[in-house]
Amino acid sequence: MGEVSRLFKNGRIATADSPDLREVDVLVDENGMITKVGAGIVPGNSTEVIDCAGCVLVPGMFDVHVHAREPGCEHKETLATCAAAALHGGVTGLVLMPDTSPPVDSGNLVKSAQDLVSEISPIPMYQSGCLTKGRQGTELAGFSGMASRGVPMLTDADRSVPCPDLLRRCMEYARDFDLLVTSHADTPALSKTGSINEGRVSYRFGLAGIPAISQEVAIDRDIRVAQHTGARLHLQQISTARGLKSVVCAKEAGTRVTCEVSAHHLVLTELDIRDYNTHFKFNPPLRSEEDVSAMVQGLIDGSIDLIASDHAPHTEFEKSSDFGSAPFGATGLETTVLVLHDRFIRTGVFGWDLLIQRYSDAPRKLIGQVPVAINEGSAAEFFVFDPAAQTAITRDYLRTKSPVSPFIGETLSGAIRGTTVRGMWFT
Ligand SMILES: [Zn+2]
Repeated sequence: MGEVSRLFKNGRIATADSPDLREVDVLVDENGMITKVGAGIVPGNSTEVIDCAGCVLVPGMFDVHVHAREPGCEHKETLATCAAAALHGGVTGLVLMPDTSPPVDSGNLVKSAQDLVSEISPIPMYQSGCLTKGRQGTELAGFSGMASRGVPMLTDADRSVPCPDLLRRCMEYARDFDLLVTSHADTPALSKTGSINEGRVSYRFGLAGIPAISQEVAIDRDIRVAQHTGARLHLQQISTARGLKSVVCAKEAGTRVTCEVSAHHLVLTELDIRDYNTHFKFNPPLRSEEDVSAMVQGLIDGSIDLIASDHAPHTEFEKSSDFGSAPFGATGLETTVLVLHDRFIRTGVFGWDLLIQRYSDAPRKLIGQVPVAINEGSAAEFFVFDPAAQTAITRDYLRTKSPVSPFIGETLSGAIRGTTVRGMWFT
């Protein structure tokens, strides 16, 4: 916990309930608790005053899809650099994907990951576990051990479980242990060696394509198995309009299914890929303009439950190979809030309330955590955002170990001045 109390003076508080902002001061004690919210709070002698005039105080975001790479691939990212990136991006809690080396597929490995997190990370990081041993898609992972360690979800992280019978058994066990099954909806037999959305852009580039049906078929299959078994299903990285329609139908039928979308699938299309720039290579790939419009609409109307970054660090060297062979993914923890503010909040498409609902409240609720808000008596967990400032996304700006992002070179409106969590103030 921090040693000093802090007064966040003259800021405006954003909430999940209303797009309106309330101008007040917020006093946080040395234990990180909000002791007073109101106008004209007078600081004590030892209180650090943080001038928030013109700024918005926003509840900390929570990201359920993060690859931190430690242990095993510390050349890409570590838990420490991942936490620094999260705080720099206004994210105060997250779920770690289990695709480390070794993959987290047993209770013992969950325990060692949890120990490492508590030693290193200033923010809560919840370790998820694999559905299948070693993410190999052939045998069930150690469900009961992982359940007893309190994993928030089970997922093979960026891989689907190819065999429907094995997926069925995964979901039956998950239902019995009341564990959330999180699925990367993809049909490898259709995606093959594709690296880009199948369509006019892939033809023009002469690259093997990943068809939209690769995701759509997998979504339909996963939903049917979830309906049959009664398991809770969360679909990662929704990217196609038809896939989203399937999710909407399943929800209407009462299926326990939720889904997420990432910032890059909300603001970039396949047409943004230029000069074979591998920073735009994602799995699922950037899709058509129609798909992106459907994602934005779905986020607003609630058919998409939540936002997740799919923060997937790689070295610049790894990303410097040709488009077909470079690894999928880019970082996202530091850019998601900035990009969504720049494209949607600044332009009036939606307010801070929607961003808080989808990137702070819903992700916490998904894994059974309590949403955070800026209220008297609550722990202080928020960031200070200056909408009048600008942020140039450069390699130097990013605190992740991986300077790989499709937004590098852009200047975005707004800036995150600092983030407070657990009594500490990170700038
Ligand atoms: Zn991922």
